[in-house]
Amino acid sequence: MPDPNEDARLDALRKLNLLDTPPSESFDRITRMASQIFGLPISAVSLTDRDRQWFKSRVGVEHTSIPREKAPCAQVAESAEMVVIPDLLADSGYAGSVLAGQGVRFYAGAPLVTRDGYGLGALCVLGTEPRGASAAEMAALNDLAKMVMSQIELQHALGRIDPLSGLPNRTQFLDDIDDLGRDEPGRCRLAVLVDLARPEQLSDGVRVMGSRFLDDMVQEGTRALRAVLGAERTLYHVAATQFAFLALRDVDQQTYVAMLASILEQVREASNVRFVMSATIGVAPFLAGETSSRDVLRTAHSAALEARASDPPVSVYSPQKDGVHRRQFRLLNDFGAALYEPGQLRLVFQPRVDLATRACIGAEALLRWSHPTLGEVSPGEFIPIVEQTSLARPITAWVLGAGLKQLGAWWAAGLRLQLSINVSAANLEEKDFAVRVQQYLLEHRVPAEMLELEVTESAVMDNPAQAIGQLEALEVAGVRLAIDDFGTGYSSLAYLQRLPAEVVKIDQSFVRDLALGEREQTLVRSMISLSHDLGYRVVAEGIETGAAAEMLSAMKCDEGQGYFFARPMELPDFERWLGQHGMMKAAA
Ligand code: C2E
Ligand code: MG
Ligand code: MG
Repeated sequence: MPDPNEDARLDALRKLNLLDTPPSESFDRITRMASQIFGLPISAVSLTDRDRQWFKSRVGVEHTSIPREKAPCAQVAESAEMVVIPDLLADSGYAGSVLAGQGVRFYAGAPLVTRDGYGLGALCVLGTEPRGASAAEMAALNDLAKMVMSQIELQHALGRIDPLSGLPNRTQFLDDIDDLGRDEPGRCRLAVLVDLARPEQLSDGVRVMGSRFLDDMVQEGTRALRAVLGAERTLYHVAATQFAFLALRDVDQQTYVAMLASILEQVREASNVRFVMSATIGVAPFLAGETSSRDVLRTAHSAALEARASDPPVSVYSPQKDGVHRRQFRLLNDFGAALYEPGQLRLVFQPRVDLATRACIGAEALLRWSHPTLGEVSPGEFIPIVEQTSLARPITAWVLGAGLKQLGAWWAAGLRLQLSINVSAANLEEKDFAVRVQQYLLEHRVPAEMLELEVTESAVMDNPAQAIGQLEALEVAGVRLAIDDFGTGYSSLAYLQRLPAEVVKIDQSFVRDLALGEREQTLVRSMISLSHDLGYRVVAEGIETGAAAEMLSAMKCDEGQGYFFARPMELPDFERWLGQHGMMKAAA
């Protein structure tokens, strides 16, 4: 007969994650005691699943489960009361049961009941002779059943409480969100995620102050958040530096977000550790029972990441921005494989032309990534993401390796072409960078002056002392240096002068604006003449029209690069182009 409570009971049982787990001594100890007290050979902790009795612990039984039908333990679970059957064969309900068929005559069982009153199963003792049970025996069996429950609850809690903060953890948060789906299906709620620190701040802190740094941060964060939330609200500790809670029902989202900004302020004031300065809050609206609990957590986290860029750092989840994050995460994740799997990365080449003679004097190597499922991904998208990670070193190593190999081949074939390669800020912080560049040159037998390295002004500004050291070593070795995207940073020319660069590449935004009018032209003209006065050779990037080329030529700009002359080309096309421009016989 279907019991309306049965689903809830089964749910309570499943949530404890006990079914089909290995035996454990803490339960076996209790079953041994039960069998001793009764002086009987068989005892078990038996859990009532949908259609079986599954034994978490057993003494004197071979099987790990028996069918639920006609099992006395099922009666104990369903009634949540003690059951004694002096003789199974004499009992009309159990005479035909599996147990009776196996020669069992006596049964006594005490219920395993959760705090919420669900009967999970029974602690039972069985005998092969009919007998009765004394009140003292049954009281002892009942006490032991309660010990089994304490053990179950203890084990369960252990996986749900964070030992450091003492707060319910991520598993509990996910379960509670799932429960909300049953209690108030379809209601819109807000989940809030507070992230105390960025991963890099955490690792820097731990490096400097040891693991106490994280402990202090978590404990202080817990105290501060608890103080603002009040005792009756549940605060969860969902990841190392992340806490979550639910907004009260029916709050107005806008007002609430404003209130969170002030909570953050209070948390900062209540705390004396620097880290909280960088805390961010993400808010995820969700429909109970419709949004999966994992999505609730993920979207709240995505919003907290988004909040890093806003002031106050509180952000509401937006699917659009989330899509961008997810793609960035994916690119970052997949780039590692691209470096080692042949065929994903390649270089294309864009000519650099002498503006007076229109002769090609060099080329810029530009990286291309063909992602196995996303297709062609532009370096404008993936370079800024990956160059901020430890991948900066292997990317540039890959580009230098491939670029210099090609340059070596051209040099050996008698082609005098200078190749420009882009390097990232992080490369200039590698202490052995200049040395490694020279090793590549040697390996591919290329004279240093055939190589030009392009760095942006902001790359140098990140860590000027270290950057200048590497750049000077490269200059001494004879490698040419160019300042890329000139004009987009904030540095003064006077500062740039300290760099051992010979070339400035005027950013394409200025070149594009030349068509706008007098003002824009004057700006470019003075950039060129100022650079000349300071001894730089000037290259204009992004020349798309003949008119711009003419104008720049008249302004005495030395070189140009842009779609007007040629787009970045695959190697065979580039070599064919060189042939057509008198630089090389057309590729055979
Ligand atoms: P960049 O170094 O300033 O390279 C010039 C970019 O402008 C290239 O974009 C090129 O295709 C594009 N371009 C050239 N002429 C024109 C033109 O006439 N009009 C327009 N609209 N664009 C033009 P690309 O190849 O997409 O590269 C973008 C950026 O990615 C590069 O800017 C560079 O900062 C970075 N990058 C590319 N390859 C590498 C690499 O191997 N290593 C590093 N660290 N960065 C790279
Ligand atoms: Mg460049
Ligand atoms: Mg550029």
